Amino acid sequence: MKLSIDMDQRYAKMRAHTATHLLHAELAKIFPNTKQAGSLVDSDLLRFDFYANNLLTPEQIRDIENNVNQTIFKAFPVDLIETSFEEWVKLWAKAFFEEKYGDEVRVIRVHDGDKNISVELCGWTHVSNTRDIWAFTIISQEAVASWIKRITAYTWPKVIEKLHNYEEILDWASKTLDVKSYAQINEKISKYAKENSELQQRVESLETASIRATLQSAQSRSNSDFSKIIQLPIGTNFKALTWIVKEIFQSEKSLLLYTDEWNYVIITDGSVSAKELAKKYNLRWGGSDMMAQWKDESVKAI
Ligand SMILES: [Zn+2]
Repeated sequence: MKLSIDMDQRYAKMRAHTATHLLHAELAKIFPNTKQAGSLVDSDLLRFDFYANNLLTPEQIRDIENNVNQTIFKAFPVDLIETSFEEWVKLWAKAFFEEKYGDEVRVIRVHDGDKNISVELCGWTHVSNTRDIWAFTIISQEAVASWIKRITAYTWPKVIEKLHNYEEILDWASKTLDVKSYAQINEKISKYAKENSELQQRVESLETASIRATLQSAQSRSNSDFSKIIQLPIGTNFKALTWIVKEIFQSEKSLLLYTDEWNYVIITDGSVSAKELAKKYNLRWGGSDMMAQWKDESVKAI
């Protein structure tokens, strides 16, 4: 039993490793000067780091997946060649000579007769034919550093696992959006997004109207520092508030507006400093010299 699990894992790693070589070969077509910056091979899982300034586009990712899967379907042989380092350099070497190799090297060559698909120096064990990988899919791409990108990919049977994960997400989305097929998800989301932006616009204009009405009818008091002190209803949108206040109370020297949630804003015409006024009343200050705003309970004592 133990032996068969070990064998399963061994094959799973062999699939992932040969797929790493195929991925490397595809990346080299897109980034001719790229080099491997690291890699991790696990059971039907591979992570490949390479030097590149840009991330791949979704189309490039799709192309790589298609090409690697084509190589898999075409059942190309994966040969192990043991040869001398000199012979290898003569025959196939591209250039990664920072690494040290002994006199004898192992070359893994995936080929279609005369045509090389991938040739790499490698000490690992591989599948003997690309069809044994069965399937390949990229699950993510990220920038590890600005000049190093990372691709994580699956080989069979994790490809099915990815499909199942996506299916779960799509099932959830279909249920949540109340549609009968995956094909309707796009349409429904676009419809909701459009409705949402229309509603947002309506809410904003209602909010503006309501703030304007509140400000115009609000009871105000004053003290020696503020020509108007106005308490506003809880939930007032302070972001929308400030420009409406500026418009309505243009001629006021200094205003203090606050809510029972202790959001406050001080707006001045510039002749007095909002920052100084906030300081005078021990209010936490944030903003510009003409406008201070924060959340501070001390404002209720003013
Ligand atoms: Zn290798």
